[in-house]
Amino acid sequence: MNYHSNRDSEIKAAFGDALLASLAPDGGLWMPDEIPHFNPKNTARMGAMSFAECAAELAVHFTDDRFSASDLVALCRDAYNFDVPMVTLSGEALDPALAPDAEDFVLELFHGPTLAFKDFAARFMGRAASHLMGATKQKRTILVATSGDTGGAIGDAFLDQKGIKVFILFPKGGVSKVQEQQLTTMGRANSNVKAISVDGTFDDCQQLVKAAFGNPDLTKQYNLMSANSINVGRVIPQSFYYFWTSLQAKAAYPNRPLVYSIPSGNLGNLTGGLIAKKMGAPIDRFVIGNNANDPFVDYLSTSVYEPRPSVPTLSNAMDIGRPNNFPRILSLYNDDYTEIVSVCWGASFSDEETERHIRRIHTETGYVMCPHTAVGHLAMEKFAADISEPFTRITVGTAHPAKFADSVERILHTDIPMPAPLAKAMKKKQRVHVMGPTLADLSDYLAMHA
Ligand SMILES: *Cc1c(COP(=O)(O)O)cnc(C)c1O
Repeated sequence: MNYHSNRDSEIKAAFGDALLASLAPDGGLWMPDEIPHFNPKNTARMGAMSFAECAAELAVHFTDDRFSASDLVALCRDAYNFDVPMVTLSGEALDPALAPDAEDFVLELFHGPTLAFKDFAARFMGRAASHLMGATKQKRTILVATSGDTGGAIGDAFLDQKGIKVFILFPKGGVSKVQEQQLTTMGRANSNVKAISVDGTFDDCQQLVKAAFGNPDLTKQYNLMSANSINVGRVIPQSFYYFWTSLQAKAAYPNRPLVYSIPSGNLGNLTGGLIAKKMGAPIDRFVIGNNANDPFVDYLSTSVYEPRPSVPTLSNAMDIGRPNNFPRILSLYNDDYTEIVSVCWGASFSDEETERHIRRIHTETGYVMCPHTAVGHLAMEKFAADISEPFTRITVGTAHPAKFADSVERILHTDIPMPAPLAKAMKKKQRVHVMGPTLADLSDYLAMHA
């Protein structure tokens, strides 16, 4: 598959080159030239496959001839060695025999090694990058700004990979305690993954990474690559789980409309969902949940898009005032606002509403939601209030609640058990470099460690 710049469709690259280059030479975002469409006969066949096999079949269409079909099967089996469950709030599986009338499901995308949905994209991208670099003696430096989960997933996916160094920039005091512990304890002392605590906000981190990419000397000297969702290698794999899970949900409840709710920040997850729908996934509508950082929800209700500085909230991974992937969504729908609002519906919620919701769901069902998932579930509830006929509702569970134990334990007055990988990270000693939010500080550090 070829990709083109969203700013100039004449600027093209094959998948592998688009992934390694991160941005198009004109600064634009890479977009696939065409999105494959699967007819019902094919989707029936693919829905019966395992998730990894279905992902590999989709990936054949989005990659290039440096990846054979069997390379992709091996890559996806290795990357996706964990469950992708859909459950009711009382814990039943998505199965009409067990739960004939159930409508309200959570798609738990947090059973990978770093317990957030970012693993799906990071593990595919990490393996694809190493396959591309393969026998070459190339070296690359990955810079990644994180509001908490991306850094962990990328660090984990690239840990100990030859020829690659990873620098994770996170806002000092702006990620949860568990996330910070996870980010700063990866690998051994001389590990290829380094955590940098930036004295500033997530926007400052993202700005620093952009400034580094905008500096031709740094880009060339270190062969810089982005692992943020500006990289098309992050976005494409996020379509795979929408495609596969929607086939499972439709097979279980064939006569009902199917709606997903996505707690959103940079809109990479939503972009993956929209690509899946274009591929023929039987999804009727997307609901978007925002926290107080809601330029996209405002756009949906007013048609006016106004990015703005971010404000800190309880759902810190969504504290984004200028969503990276907004231009991709415009491009998928040829800037047609009417079409975008026929597919997307959104609502935003305060921290107070989110806390109340986490408490109510826990009291009523026993289910513990992370603050991001709670925003998505709230948005789904609001959407459902105006709809009388039954429909299948799938809220995308983006992170395990234990990643946000500091806030969730305060809200629920109960202990959240730590899954094993987190419990292990909690015991390790932090290794972290603290610096100011300036390009000079960053290039000094790169000069020493890249
Ligand atoms: C990254 C993240 C989000 C937001 O996803 P986007 O693709 O940036 O919209 C939501 N929840 C959690 C837990 C995240 O880590």
